[in-house]
Amino acid sequence: MNTFISKTENIKSLYQDEIVNSLKRIKEPDYRANQLINWIYKNYANSWDEMTNLPIALRKKLSEMFILYSSKLVKVQCSDDLTRKFLWQLEDGEFVENVLIPANPALYGEPDDRMTLCVSTQVGCAYKCKFCASGLLGFKRNLNAGEIVEQILAVERWAINEKLPELENKKRLINNIVFMGMGEPLANYENLIRAIKIINAQWGCNIGARKITISTCGLVPEIRQLATEKLQLRLAISLHAATNDVRSKLMPINKKYPLENLMEALRFYRMNKSGMITFEYILIEGVNDSSEQAAKLAKLAKPLRTKVNLIPCNKVEGLDFHSPSETVQKQFLNVLKRNGVTATLRKEKGANIDAACGQLRLKTESEIKHNTIKT
Ligand code: SF4
Repeated sequence: MNTFISKTENIKSLYQDEIVNSLKRIKEPDYRANQLINWIYKNYANSWDEMTNLPIALRKKLSEMFILYSSKLVKVQCSDDLTRKFLWQLEDGEFVENVLIPANPALYGEPDDRMTLCVSTQVGCAYKCKFCASGLLGFKRNLNAGEIVEQILAVERWAINEKLPELENKKRLINNIVFMGMGEPLANYENLIRAIKIINAQWGCNIGARKITISTCGLVPEIRQLATEKLQLRLAISLHAATNDVRSKLMPINKKYPLENLMEALRFYRMNKSGMITFEYILIEGVNDSSEQAAKLAKLAKPLRTKVNLIPCNKVEGLDFHSPSETVQKQFLNVLKRNGVTATLRKEKGANIDAACGQLRLKTESEIKHNTIKT
């Protein structure tokens, strides 16, 4: 149990019983904790003064004990397909991003009311995948659980203030979470799992575990650990190549955990969990888009009953990768389908708003450096 109380603690890092215990320690009854939780998770309060049914003295005490929100909005970009990208500045001046993605029949094959938030788990990333903007500035720090949970609440509060039409007839805006923003989620394991339990809890964000996807570049020990958690989450593997030689060139992590080890960990995961596993595969012209790679990818995917998401490469400033032609993309998809693998070719979303993870932060840090920031 986390009994740590200091001004530096974000209250959204705490479980329900920890909030109850914190209030007990200052001689407040349990129902005050429930009122407080409702203000945070149901009413999206972002100042203690908004919590009008709490006594003023208690609000003051809480403000000395906890941080309520530790980030402020710096930028929002909206693309033609209504994908919205947010840049937040944290208390220590660092930046994180997240992306709000509306369901799109062209993307999922059928109309639905999915509203996905792509959430960050670290500032920067240590894994240096060659196609990724997040890796370009290196790793700065892990986000704490509160900073992870806060991304959902802050975007929902923003949507309420903006009176977003997508909110109509909905209790809350976001019903699907993908940990595919900045950072490697499994490298921040403890904070990630704590955040997920709060996101999943009925008293918290109340988003079902099966609507939560963790994406990893392939940290083998943590995939095995995840297989032992009680939560039935979805797992997405950033695969991006079907042979060690190609994958090691794109993703340095492959030298530490080559494909054989990764597939073994996934077999273990599959034995313990029924949730869906997907392989994410960014198609990069001349690098990993050959029919041979497609055939080998099918051999990896089929025994694990893994779905493959093909993603045409996004253009990232500072990176020299390009998307293959549509013909090559479709050929690649057809090889997978002929081999009995469920696969989709994703339509590029948010292409005009730097939607690949880390792009907006990268641009903003460069603008700050050159004193040309635009909001
Ligand atoms: S793809 Fe993921 S693991 Fe790789 S550098 Fe980017 S954020 Fe890190």
